[in-house]
Amino acid sequence: MLFDSVPPDQQKYTLDDTFSFACHNELSCFNACCRNKHLPLSPYDVLRLKRALRLDSDTFLVEYAVYALDPRSGFPIISLRMREDEGKTCPFVCEEGCRVYNDRPTACRLFPLGRASKSGGNGETRDQFFFLQDIPGCLGKGEKKLWTVKQWLKDQGVLPYMAINDKMLDLLFHPKREVGKPLDDRQLQKLIVACYNLDAFRTFVAESNLLDASRVDAETRSRIEKEETALLMFGLAYLTATLFE
Ligand code: SF4
Ligand code: SF4
Repeated sequence: MLFDSVPPDQQKYTLDDTFSFACHNELSCFNACCRNKHLPLSPYDVLRLKRALRLDSDTFLVEYAVYALDPRSGFPIISLRMREDEGKTCPFVCEEGCRVYNDRPTACRLFPLGRASKSGGNGETRDQFFFLQDIPGCLGKGEKKLWTVKQWLKDQGVLPYMAINDKMLDLLFHPKREVGKPLDDRQLQKLIVACYNLDAFRTFVAESNLLDASRVDAETRSRIEKEETALLMFGLAYLTATLFE
């Protein structure tokens, strides 16, 4: 349910544009798309999946993640490790569909749409557009159910994912980052821990004076200590403040 690249002449969709689509188990293509894909995982995708699977961060990353460096940005790319079977199937696909459906990653929620967005830092309005992906053999696009993009995003529960994922974009386009300069080892380590290894970041936060130094109020502090989403948001804010110092 994913895409690998955005065709350059792809038609742009706004939130009010419409498309027809339905995905259900009566289609002969059911489950056929959950294989042989490069499926990038955002920090919030990792949080949701590891929680759904009741795994600690290290175990999730070892069992389900593949690590690479984006040669253009020098940022890490974490993607889902496909099974090593003939079809390179997703580890979460089963006969009935997706076994982590309620916690499926951003790209699976967006499909058949893709989304491009630019940083909204420094008070800029975030610019985004959507596009319809071309997946050969997907019969869902022939179904009659009509959606606006806005309706689809809401129906698929992807809005909170987009909001948190955009914080990563703000890091990528950070005003203090030298364009084209890859992250050094210290920056990489910091980013991986705060974004993708929340169990390690929680320990770091508990054993350091980071919360005191950040002057968070008591209520926020309590949420950061108890809720993983609040911890991730704190991690992203911490990176925004310190990664390029
Ligand atoms: S996570 Fe679920 S929806 Fe996404 S590719 Fe895997 S089985 Fe399909
Ligand atoms: S309709 Fe498209 S998204 Fe749904 S199972 Fe078929 S190929 Fe996958």
